[in-house]
Amino acid sequence: MMHKQEELLQRFPWAESKDRNGCGRGHLAPCWCGDGWYTLIYSMFEEIENLFIAGDRLVDLQVYEIKEKYGEMRVSIGSSLQEVYNIVDTYEVRSSKVCEECGEEGKIRDINGWLSVNCDSCYQKQL
Ligand SMILES: [Zn+2]
Repeated sequence: MMHKQEELLQRFPWAESKDRNGCGRGHLAPCWCGDGWYTLIYSMFEEIENLFIAGDRLVDLQVYEIKEKYGEMRVSIGSSLQEVYNIVDTYEVRSSKVCEECGEEGKIRDINGWLSVNCDSCYQKQL
């Protein structure tokens, strides 16, 4: 679980996890990934927010979950705007080059059959 979720929630309150009635749960949609992706997620949220601001509308979407799968970031999100999905796609692809531990440039590595994105030094530490 990412450690800086509270900071993300304060900056992007619309990313709060919500129940089926749309009531906020008081915490961010869970981010099951390393802290290295903090900046990646921050930039993605900022870009999504700007999209709504540019259209002069409130941010209207649901973030369900962010996780790592086969080394890449997977964002589970619900929105009526196709552009939101386009932004998400871009960042999911970008995640394959961002170290999940430290945020430096990395690549997908296979560590005992487990795929994750690491820079050279974080990769060495995991071996
Ligand atoms: Zn690293």
